[in-house]
Amino acid sequence: MFDMKKLVLLLMFVCIAPLATAAERLSVVTSVKPLQLVANAIVADLGDVEVLIPAGSSPHHYSLKPSGIRTLNNADLIVWVGPSLEQFLTKVLQRADAPVLQLLEVSDTDSHGHEAESTVHDDEHHHHGGEDPHIWMDPLLMLDAAEKIKNALSAQYPQHAVQLEKNYQAFADELLTAEKQVRQQLIPYQKSGFVVFHDAFALLVEHYGLNQKAFFTVDPARAPGAKKLATIQKLLKTQKVGCVFVEPQFEAAVIKQIVSDLPVKMGQLDPLAIDVTLAQGYPGYLQILGSNIESCLQ
Ligand SMILES: [Zn+2]
Repeated sequence: MFDMKKLVLLLMFVCIAPLATAAERLSVVTSVKPLQLVANAIVADLGDVEVLIPAGSSPHHYSLKPSGIRTLNNADLIVWVGPSLEQFLTKVLQRADAPVLQLLEVSDTDSHGHEAESTVHDDEHHHHGGEDPHIWMDPLLMLDAAEKIKNALSAQYPQHAVQLEKNYQAFADELLTAEKQVRQQLIPYQKSGFVVFHDAFALLVEHYGLNQKAFFTVDPARAPGAKKLATIQKLLKTQKVGCVFVEPQFEAAVIKQIVSDLPVKMGQLDPLAIDVTLAQGYPGYLQILGSNIESCLQ
């Protein structure tokens, strides 16, 4: 006999079951890759963490694509640094349905809205608030970020609070171990001078007491001017600078030219962790930065 009730129940199960499981999986979106690494450690098996700005694009100059808007609309939580880094997200996030976690507070100078906005295209555009927006360069700020992500998700999904806490503790242990390891690794090089391509590493330099002498540019989208190049060339000749770090995202021909006839090594530091896998995670990224610094300065 054809049992209508059973069929209806079966259909309901078939329709509802996938929706229910999909809704239970946490869906987090972060603006940049280093934040994805941190959020992914907290979410782990409970869901997925997507990154908004694709590999090779800079958060300083980016325009959101329709697919990016869809990603934001489907998120349970959106994590970003703040208007001093991902300026393109400021307006979009004001209209976002999902809870938004902003990691860097807006300073007084930034909050004067229009004045700050009208100066975004000058050379200091991403430092006009005074605070360095590359917060992922400080491992302790990322421990803090991990805790904020854990708290935000636990408040939304109390049924996952215990697991989120476990994930956070595991991340904290791994991060603090890597942080100490890198400190030991870099102690012998604290006095060794170096130059970086764009002003993204100041928090790392400060955290580990390193000796960064200069940077070529504040805005990675702009090639350094002739005056800046001449100043750095002079610095490379007159001061003890062992290494110049370039970035995988930017063509370094002009820098290679300056360095070529000097006793200065060239290394690479990626401020966006593009090649770092989710399995390596943020602690792995920190170790890669440490090893790249060591191998260029030794
Ligand atoms: Zn930058």
